Amino acid sequence: MPELPEVETLRRGLERRLTGRVVTRVRVPVPKMLKGRVVDPEAFAAALGGRRIESVGRRGKHLIFRLDCGYYLLLHLKMRGQLLVVPRDLEEGKYLAVALEMEDGSELRFHDMWTWGELRLMTEAELAAHPSLKAMGLEPFSDEWTPQALQRSLSRRARTSVKAALLDQTVVAGVGNIYADESLFRAGIGPLRPAGSLTDVEASRLHREIRCVLAEATGDGGTTSDNYVDADGRTGRYAPRVYERAGQPCVRCGTPLTRIKVTGRGTVYCPSCQS
Ligand SMILES: [Zn+2]
Repeated sequence: MPELPEVETLRRGLERRLTGRVVTRVRVPVPKMLKGRVVDPEAFAAALGGRRIESVGRRGKHLIFRLDCGYYLLLHLKMRGQLLVVPRDLEEGKYLAVALEMEDGSELRFHDMWTWGELRLMTEAELAAHPSLKAMGLEPFSDEWTPQALQRSLSRRARTSVKAALLDQTVVAGVGNIYADESLFRAGIGPLRPAGSLTDVEASRLHREIRCVLAEATGDGGTTSDNYVDADGRTGRYAPRVYERAGQPCVRCGTPLTRIKVTGRGTVYCPSCQS
């Protein structure tokens, strides 16, 4: 699943390509991906037609398109969703779910082979009341997100493993499986440590490494993966140190990396560098 660095990279590309553009036509080949109040494809197309895209924002792993007339489009890519901005006469790729044609001849295409992605047309009040946005933890680059804030939210889940806690979007926004594994490795903390057992020093180290790895991966346009491309169709360049490297030698000490499951998610760590 795309995480903060991938969604932020995508957001930047979309903002560059789409800000100020007016939606002229909407197609919905996969209606089940429309969620919320407007799930009828015709009503969705009618509401979106003529709307100008004012900005493209992000909260955690969600993209938020702000439209004129007080509308918002809340979009989640889930596991396999991809967004591309292409010329509208370009041949349609497989798994096209929703297409928004713009007045300048470009088209925003939402592809999703698993059709788990979600698109919600909302008012400002509905956006503000959306349960997962309301419950979401702080953005990791916000001033409010301090080492103490991280430790407080971890201590509210004191007995769960620190890996599981980091995957919980109410702890910190935008961190998922890739960057939870990467930041725990960088901080030298074992994924199964109870979240409430981190010392002040360890929580500070984890806080710093979460910020560093997210910044580094965003700078690299996200992690290299078959599943993720930015708005121009480019893959990311960030090469993980532990994620999906089970059995390979640790980049620090050479010990083969171990793979376990934590709340159903594959988790890779170095048994000698992380404790
Ligand atoms: Zn190691």
